[in-house]
Amino acid sequence: MNYNEYDAIVVGTGFAGATIAERLANESNKKVLIIDKRNTIAGNMYDYIDKNGILIHKYGPHLFHTNLDNVYEYINKFGDWFPYEHRVLGKVDGKLVPIPFNLKSIELCFDEKKCANLKKILLKEYGMEKKVPILELRKSNNKDINDLAEFIYENVFLYYTMKQWGQKPEEVDPAVSGRVPVYISQDDRYFQDKYQVMPVGGYTKIFEKMLDNKNIDLKLSTNCLDLVSMKNGKIFIDGCEFNGKFIYTGAIDELFNYKFGELPYRSLNFEFETKNMEYYQPVGTVNYPTKEDKFTRITEYKHMTSVCCKSKKTTIMKEYPCQYELNKKMTPYYPINNEQSAALYNEYLNEASKYSNLYLLGRLAQYKYYNMDLIINEALKLFEKIK
Ligand code: FAD
Ligand code: UDP
Repeated sequence: MNYNEYDAIVVGTGFAGATIAERLANESNKKVLIIDKRNTIAGNMYDYIDKNGILIHKYGPHLFHTNLDNVYEYINKFGDWFPYEHRVLGKVDGKLVPIPFNLKSIELCFDEKKCANLKKILLKEYGMEKKVPILELRKSNNKDINDLAEFIYENVFLYYTMKQWGQKPEEVDPAVSGRVPVYISQDDRYFQDKYQVMPVGGYTKIFEKMLDNKNIDLKLSTNCLDLVSMKNGKIFIDGCEFNGKFIYTGAIDELFNYKFGELPYRSLNFEFETKNMEYYQPVGTVNYPTKEDKFTRITEYKHMTSVCCKSKKTTIMKEYPCQYELNKKMTPYYPINNEQSAALYNEYLNEASKYSNLYLLGRLAQYKYYNMDLIINEALKLFEKIK
């Protein structure tokens, strides 16, 4: 096979890889080869209909939400999307309360008098519709707010974060717990973005449409590292120097054979169960920020993907986080952003800069905790740069 027939080789069929491949093929009429080591397309967005007739996200629940008009416009080219606003409840003090913890959660956790007092103080201190990260709320000098912050910290953040990251909230990048702030509002949606939608028929169909182009060849079940070697600023594929654009969306440490050391990641185990009932829980996701449960959350897909499904059964999925270990066939899902990993990542970045036709794109290659919309935006930006 002559890989130099291609103008670009893209590694990974998630939103990063599929978006850049689609743009190069469709907009610039470039010949693209897209490779994935999995036997499916769509990266972590891959979905399928299971034995209960329910559309399942194999790699965890994926809710599409964005404030970016250009990204929303882009995804709408590849299929229809229906409005869906995600709601999450958390098991707090034996009750199910809205997460992000908000004014409704306060009403459910405290008696009427205390609740009225807390609301009054929060509104005075921060104002209505304000989002306050838990680590900031804990710094308040007001005794009542401080007590409330300790309650929320202990019952919503501490054990969930310990399970998810193996560390306390204050030891993790503040942006992580800041994703789910305390919300001084009656709004109990998980996200407040302008656009909140899910793909009719699922994500995989959207990706099929993105990659359906005569200029794109797809090669699945292929680990690019079995073909690629990186030497002295040159990229060799199957022994021949590749002169086109090489766009890589996998883990950067893996690309360079861990020469500076392994970057840290968190991984997840997903456990699926069938329940013989129409619905198992009141909303799509219930979080378990509890010490005793080993999983972080249970997702019931019927709520978010199969709203018209008449099945008398339902499928639920529990998420068990764990430390990522190389050679254990684990998937690196979450980069662990801290000073040490940033320094190590920079060493790889410096190495990557020696390869003029190498482009790093995506959650793993850019080593950032990006949502889908930001990944698509990164890919659109890269296209503008290289088209
Ligand atoms: P990926 O989707 O991971 O795609 C990378 C692809 O590259 C994979 O298919 C992989 O097999 C392939 N690959 C890697 N290395 C190689 C190699 N050497 N050779 C060949 N192929 C290779 N975002 C949201 O916006 N909303 C959500 O609700 C949401 N929920 C999430 C839930 C979970 C549990 C997780 C882990 C993430 C969630 N995300 C969510 C984030 C979302 O998954 C990412 O933003 C998105 O997957 C990033 O796309 P990507 O293309 O960079 O990476
Ligand atoms: N978090 C928490 N308790 C919750 C929800 C979130 O402690 O009930 C913290 C936890 O550290 C988590 C982070 O907030 O990793 C971000 O949560 P999000 O739901 O955005 O995580 P994701 O969906 O990306 O896994």
